[in-house]
Amino acid sequence: MSSVFSQIIERKLPAKVVLENEHVIAIEDIHPVAPVHILIIPKKEISSIQYLKREDMHLMGHIVEAAQKIADKLELTDYRLVTNNGPDAGQTVFHLHFHMIGGKKLQHLV
Ligand code: AMP
Repeated sequence: MSSVFSQIIERKLPAKVVLENEHVIAIEDIHPVAPVHILIIPKKEISSIQYLKREDMHLMGHIVEAAQKIADKLELTDYRLVTNNGPDAGQTVFHLHFHMIGGKKLQHLV
């Protein structure tokens, strides 16, 4: 069974797509925790950042580039880009994704 994000990429499930290219898709999170809450997801199904192989490291660049483009488009100067690795870190969907969160003053995390 493919991940919920793969199903979105394959257009088997609906989503609000913010940006898409050959390598990544960015969608609005279904349960936003801030005025801006976008998920940036590599199209390749990698379970989490811990399992990102050397040959796929370029995807990190595409993820950062997508975040920069979205920030420019939304005129967002301040935002957080975060990934959860594993259940105890809060991961619930086991397809690598980065939360891009902003649009309000965020609580200090670390
Ligand atoms: P994580 O808990 O870090 O794995 O993040 C998974 C995120 O995916 C959560 O913030 C969910 O709200 C979000 N999510 C789950 N299903 C969907 C969906 N169908 N469309 C958009 N976001 C989703």
